Amino acid sequence: MSHVFHRQPATAYPVAVAGDGPYLIDAAGRRYLDACGGAAVSCLGHSDTAVRDAIKGQVDSLAYAHSAFFTTQAAEDLADVLIARAAETMPNNRLDKVYFVSGGSEAAEAALKLARQYFLEICQPGRHRIIARRQSYHGNTLGALAVGGNQWRRQPFEPMLMPATHIAPCYAYRDRREDESEAAYGQRVADELEAAILDLGPETVAAFIAEPVVGATAGALPPVPGYFRRIREICDRYGVLLILDEVMCGMGRTGHLYACAEDGIAPDILMTAKGLGAGYQPIGAMLCSAAIYDAIVTGSGFFQHGHTYIGHVTACAASLAVQRRLHEGGLLENVRVQGAALRQALDAAFGQHPHVGEIRGRGLMLGLELVADRASKAPFDPALKLNARIKREAMARGLMCYPMGGTIDGRHGDHVMLAPPFIIGPEHVSEIVDRLGQALGAALDSLPAEARP
Ligand code: PMP
Repeated sequence: MSHVFHRQPATAYPVAVAGDGPYLIDAAGRRYLDACGGAAVSCLGHSDTAVRDAIKGQVDSLAYAHSAFFTTQAAEDLADVLIARAAETMPNNRLDKVYFVSGGSEAAEAALKLARQYFLEICQPGRHRIIARRQSYHGNTLGALAVGGNQWRRQPFEPMLMPATHIAPCYAYRDRREDESEAAYGQRVADELEAAILDLGPETVAAFIAEPVVGATAGALPPVPGYFRRIREICDRYGVLLILDEVMCGMGRTGHLYACAEDGIAPDILMTAKGLGAGYQPIGAMLCSAAIYDAIVTGSGFFQHGHTYIGHVTACAASLAVQRRLHEGGLLENVRVQGAALRQALDAAFGQHPHVGEIRGRGLMLGLELVADRASKAPFDPALKLNARIKREAMARGLMCYPMGGTIDGRHGDHVMLAPPFIIGPEHVSEIVDRLGQALGAALDSLPAEARP
């Protein structure tokens, strides 16, 4: 009997023992094509020797030094690389400092607290409210959960969550009116931010937080063009900080190191994790503007936050090796090329599928939204747990994909997200689409007949 506290205690998990490029291998020798990078984490696959060597080299000389006493060369070099890339790729970049943490939720907590402390430092103590979006996920710790809009994850903890204001996401498939252009739709939903700021009172609002490409709650949902430029304008107009959560969509996943560069904007605070360590080490980061950092320096002189493992040297060394691999190996170009090929193959295989409502995404972050009925866009009943059936059938066929359930308010249905490693080639694209087709077919066949109109 296992003593590990598993996510789903009734599930018999295979024991992972090895990695081979984009494949994971279990103790029985079965190979699984990792078409979702776990949860959009393993961007270099599972056997990158450069990253492994960097970790070994770092541990041989220094494994850990507490950030209250020391900085390290690995942390300094990694911060330099991240800021240099932000300056190169983001129009009007503001990011200048990097605060290293151990994952996405920690990056969210740091971002929220930094936003609050910034306004204390500049003598605007009334600003503490956070505005976020309904289709969003920013992490499972209580602060991150409070601003996230994932009803299923929030519900049990609702009485413990701090208040936050939620506006509409940019979700054209569901919400764009037929007579509305994409641009007009984007402006309309972005303007909800202005309405919320005015409603709360600008002098009380600290920040707006959003994922450039929504991941875990909407299966790779990009905004329409122009949406984020409008959001940036509104934040600037009212002195509200813009926090972009690139934990899932950043670090090259969309074909750009920073996803927001494609939207033509730069945030005041950016959260990153997952691909930052590519799964070889747990690491996340919060990047912030010089203006915010300077306010702390000239104010209290101390960011009222911190964890034991911030700036962990082994994690930073691994992440620095990941950055080198991304930029030296033409991998971001491969993300764009294989992303386009995967998108095309998905369109060909599922574009007319009666239960695929939309195929969407950017780069190698692609999603399928499943519907019971294409014409009405009605989702499947969440009680059918179609997503769990797809995951089971995919694993049985040696494929890892990331299926998500519909919202409990019935706003949208089940999704499948694909986020394979950046090292895949055309053979993997075909394998993903073939196996996904089989898994989807088997999962749909397993539903009671009356569930499929
Ligand atoms: N933000 C986003 C956009 C995420 O996708 C996730 C993880 N799925 C998180 C935050 C939380 O990250 P972590 O699980 O590393 O705490």
